[in-house]
Amino acid sequence: RAYIIILHIINNLVSITLTKLTPWRNTSHETLPPEIVTKLFHDPTSIKTASSDFGKLVQETPTAVFHPSTVSDIVRLIKSSYTASSPFKIAARGRGHSVGGQAMAKDGVVVEMTSLVDGGIKVCWSESLGFYCDAGGEQLWIDVLRTTMEHGLSPVSWTDYLYLSVGGTLSNAGISGQAFLHGPQISNVLEMDVITGKGDFMTCSKSTNSDLFYGVLGGLGQFGIITRARIVLQKAPTRVKWFRMIYEDFATFTKDQEHLISINHGPNYVEGYLIMKKSPANNWRSSFFSIHDEAKVNSLASECGIVYSLDVVKYYDEFDIQTIDEELDEMLKGLSFKTGFIFKKDVTFVDFLNRVRTEELNLQSKGLWNVHHPWLNLFIPKSGILDFNQRVFIDIIQKENKSSGPFLVYPMNRKKWDYRMSAVISEEDEDVFYTVGLLPAATNAENWKIIENQNNKILKLCDEIGIKIKQYLPRYYETKEEWMKHFGAKWSVFEERKAKYDPKMILAPGQKIFNFN
Ligand code: FAD
Repeated sequence: RAYIIILHIINNLVSITLTKLTPWRNTSHETLPPEIVTKLFHDPTSIKTASSDFGKLVQETPTAVFHPSTVSDIVRLIKSSYTASSPFKIAARGRGHSVGGQAMAKDGVVVEMTSLVDGGIKVCWSESLGFYCDAGGEQLWIDVLRTTMEHGLSPVSWTDYLYLSVGGTLSNAGISGQAFLHGPQISNVLEMDVITGKGDFMTCSKSTNSDLFYGVLGGLGQFGIITRARIVLQKAPTRVKWFRMIYEDFATFTKDQEHLISINHGPNYVEGYLIMKKSPANNWRSSFFSIHDEAKVNSLASECGIVYSLDVVKYYDEFDIQTIDEELDEMLKGLSFKTGFIFKKDVTFVDFLNRVRTEELNLQSKGLWNVHHPWLNLFIPKSGILDFNQRVFIDIIQKENKSSGPFLVYPMNRKKWDYRMSAVISEEDEDVFYTVGLLPAATNAENWKIIENQNNKILKLCDEIGIKIKQYLPRYYETKEEWMKHFGAKWSVFEERKAKYDPKMILAPGQKIFNFN
């Protein structure tokens, strides 16, 4: 048996070496520079990985996968495409945690950002900027957290899950329960290095090449590949007080959420989610309750059909120990959760931020992580959220009882988003808008189709009854008109920036904004 395994390994090594040495040719069969060719792979494993993502809904096969060691390698690759008589498509792949093929490049080249060795994370300070870190676009947020914590510092805005790449989340927005206070991750970037679709390496910020800076943030990878981001840091707390409160009434739940995100010196984090039959109190997004408490909450949910869970977190450290409880009493005063349904935890800051990882490992061990994820993420105007609860959460999700959760819902402050950036949020002129994340898993194709049909029904319904939603991490558009509607007043600038920075439409073809096949 050992002999067969060794033979198998030798066989694989030979095939990898051969595929590496085989000159890769682009569609017009012009030979690429040798320093590029040696970093292009088309062995089955590389191709298979780059043809898939977390969603397991889309499969698109690239011709080759590029493993850059340095930023200059990416510059050379893009320049080769840009100057070719028939340019080939190129997609950066952070960790492939998209769910709709956004990091894929059909018949093109996928750049595995993880291969970069010259990025890293450096913590710095300057008089004008205060503390910040320079992180490679390929870096994971968990590594940004670990490195900055060594200096007692941390970024201020997060995603719920930290095994996402810096370049990947900045191409979208990067949101979690801190966004109401600090804005999304894109609002906390000071400067970036970007390689445009012409292969130009450019440093950009609000004052230098600002057009590229605003375009790239939330720009769905359309204008360039981010190779470095300068991220705002603050002194990190050591611990957090974490509360979960249960509501039977949605209007009261959202009223309390909106109150919490409006107060000075209030919470550091506010999120919420639905609890119902198929979406129990503990879920992979954050397992929180003890067995006893979970049973109590689930029993209330089955009695009511649906209940709403509000998460509130306050950071603290050793200097606040005397005052933290008093502060919390003041903060939670007047909230109208169901009596007897408030639950508390006190955990380290890092454990709180990294809460999804434990559940990921648990699901992985059961073979339930690498399944289909037909997710739908939306931004909803405040004026439409009560209607959305009745028409979607209750009439569709709860009553039809077809899909598992988690189903997230929490508010954000519009003023924390910079309109000049490409990211699209609710167009209604209201101070507050909501994010809703319908994040089910499907273990088989039949179930996946059922959920996709339900998602399409929700999108159509919102259109019909006039709830002006916007998709976050959009993946349901099939025509230029739909993208124009999505970007609204921002479309013309978006299109102009594409013409300026990626005129041959080389980058991020998997988003299907400028190419639909
Ligand atoms: P990829 O999926 O690899 O890429 C996403 C897009 O960005 C592609 O178009 C790609 O070409 C482009 N891209 C990648 N790297 C770069 C780069 N360096 N420069 C330019 N373009 C680039 N999002 C939130 O906002 N909040 C959350 O709480 C949250 N939780 C999540 C939890 C899980 C379990 C998962 C799977 C996803 C979650 N997401 C969340 C979504 C996540 O933000 C997106 O999947 C995002 O795309 C980051 O994933 P990635 O780094 O693997 O990027």
